[in-house]
Amino acid sequence: MQIQLKNRCALVTGGGRGIGRAIAIALARSGARVAVSARTAAELAKVTKTIRKDNGEALALQADLSKPEALPQMLELVEQQLGPVDILVNNAGIGSSADPKPVIDFDDAFWDLSLWLNLTVPYRLSKAVLPSMVTKRWGRIINIASINSKMPSFHGAAYAASKHGLLGLTRTLALEVAKVGVTVNAICPGPVHTAMNDKRIEYDAKRKGISFEEQEKSMTPIGGRLEPEDIAPLAVYLASDAARMVTGQAYNICGGVLLY
Ligand code: NAP
Repeated sequence: MQIQLKNRCALVTGGGRGIGRAIAIALARSGARVAVSARTAAELAKVTKTIRKDNGEALALQADLSKPEALPQMLELVEQQLGPVDILVNNAGIGSSADPKPVIDFDDAFWDLSLWLNLTVPYRLSKAVLPSMVTKRWGRIINIASINSKMPSFHGAAYAASKHGLLGLTRTLALEVAKVGVTVNAICPGPVHTAMNDKRIEYDAKRKGISFEEQEKSMTPIGGRLEPEDIAPLAVYLASDAARMVTGQAYNICGGVLLY
């Protein structure tokens, strides 16, 4: 089945690399006009170049989402250049690996930043794009959560708390907009081969006194890690008309780490 997203406008936060990049490219290949945001201009430029090479329409938005004022500015640019957002992919996030510590030693500023980027930004962006989705009676919000939305993250309390919270937002919002053609779902990846997860493996390998490779191999029952491209097809499906009856769900793609 070919999934057509023609005439849809998507915004993928954190679309410069990793999972967001793979989702942005896959949405564009299905016909959506895609805006990608991140802080690193060079990575955004590479993604938009890839999309345009495939004859897709892409917009790069350099924005630091840790700054509250960046959110409305970013949305205004998308609306001006590509139109109102039909598909919002809340993907930008900060991992436990950026500053892993037991709670007793946890850095409060890192806690606040994690909760802001991983939970409050998806809430604020969802709130901002919803009015036009409701008017059109069509919209898709896809939150990139984590298996740590359902299980702990060792020395990553802020990550686990923010990602658990993201499922609460997903499920509540899904019910609030269920009657107006807007679906809200979460994808819960296991360990994916990205810059963020490389750091986590380094931390866990060191902590256990094993090599990076040994730690990486042991990450999933299937073996090793996922690639960002393993996540993208589910996002495309959730964005499509075919998924019109799917809402409030939290799908694991995790190589068998989590079986519920
Ligand atoms: P990644 O490779 O580190 O990419 C993260 C993206 O978010 C980058 O484009 C980054 O761009 C952007 N970003 C980070 N901080 C930002 C900020 N302050 N403002 C704007 N953009 C920002 O990470 P990833 O592994 O693909 O993770 C993507 C999502 O998947 C995250 O929500 C993560 O929690 C989730 N996830 C990842 C894994 C995994 O194993 N990798 C597993 C489960 C869930 P800049 O740095 O240029 O700003």
